[in-house]
Amino acid sequence: MKSISPKNLLIIIAMLLAVLVSASIIIYTGWKTDHIQWLWAVGAFVFSFITSILMLLFVNTLVLKKINQLLATVKYFRSQSAQPSTNIEYSGVEIDNLNLEILAWADDRKNEIERLKKLEIYRKEYLGNVSHELKTPIFNIQGYVLTLLDGGLEDPTINRNYLMHAEKNVDRMITIIDDLEAISQLETGELQLEPERFDIAALAKDVIDAQEMKATEKGIILTLPEEVKPTFVFADRFRIRQVLVNLIVNSIKYGKEYGETQIRFYDKGDTISIEIADNGIGISEEHITRLFERFYRVDKSRSREQGGTGLGLAIVKHIIEAHNQTIKVTSTENVGTVFSFTLKKG
Ligand code: ADP
Repeated sequence: MKSISPKNLLIIIAMLLAVLVSASIIIYTGWKTDHIQWLWAVGAFVFSFITSILMLLFVNTLVLKKINQLLATVKYFRSQSAQPSTNIEYSGVEIDNLNLEILAWADDRKNEIERLKKLEIYRKEYLGNVSHELKTPIFNIQGYVLTLLDGGLEDPTINRNYLMHAEKNVDRMITIIDDLEAISQLETGELQLEPERFDIAALAKDVIDAQEMKATEKGIILTLPEEVKPTFVFADRFRIRQVLVNLIVNSIKYGKEYGETQIRFYDKGDTISIEIADNGIGISEEHITRLFERFYRVDKSRSREQGGTGLGLAIVKHIIEAHNQTIKVTSTENVGTVFSFTLKKG
């Protein structure tokens, strides 16, 4: 049902009041159909109608003033909110506007509380993960140092070996801290991209050469298309190198012995799609959606054994998204995995 406008409501109430007053006068004085009686009735009606209108106008103005004040206060608080989520279209009736504003404000607050709750859970999880990751190498180092202090230092069969193990654990801590630093810079938007035009095929060749030794240890070959043409993209060269390193190193870490990793390029019009395809252990369906989360690993012990921090893919995703591009993964267990991302053509 369409609501009555305040103006019409005011007239109707005034009219009713006037009818009531004039009817009361007629009933009180007794009904006589003479001129004076009619004059009284009409006069009483007009007088009470005007008085009622004036009174109601006065009350209405007062109420409206208060509603407007409330509306202004609610609007002020909404404008202070970090992310006002709803845009309101006013109906023109102040009391409806106030209602809409309060509902929208409550909605903003609800969203804000949800966001803060999620942040709190994330913060707790993040701290838990970080301390858990750092604990292992720290305890290992402590173990080696204590053994060395307990006489191991003088034992030539273990002293050098233990120091080397301790050093390996220090390296691991440095890797974790570097990855954490990279991820926090990417998440806070502190990291400014420095895009330039460069040949992604040449960069991939460069990364392959640098990872050749690691791949050969496992008998894995890293290949580029046979006749690779210069393929120019516009992106942050240093960051994209990091993406290629993370994806190629993963293909070795989770690749099968004597397997192969192919790096392929496809022209997609405005963008170039880059694929890193391996024939390794693959990833089952249920893990795919969570793969890019920080610290998410399919097989924790395998990842740690391979020196993984569980942050590599999260960093990769952040870098690609910072370029306003996308990354996808398709995989079949025991068959292999393909990571593909796009970059703007240069
Ligand atoms: P990690 O440091 O553990 O390698 P990442 O973030 O790089 O962390 O990868 C997350 C997880 O995704 C890995 O632990 C691994 O289980 C899985 N993964 C990544 N790349 C591959 C791949 N090419 N083949 C199979 N599994 C992979």
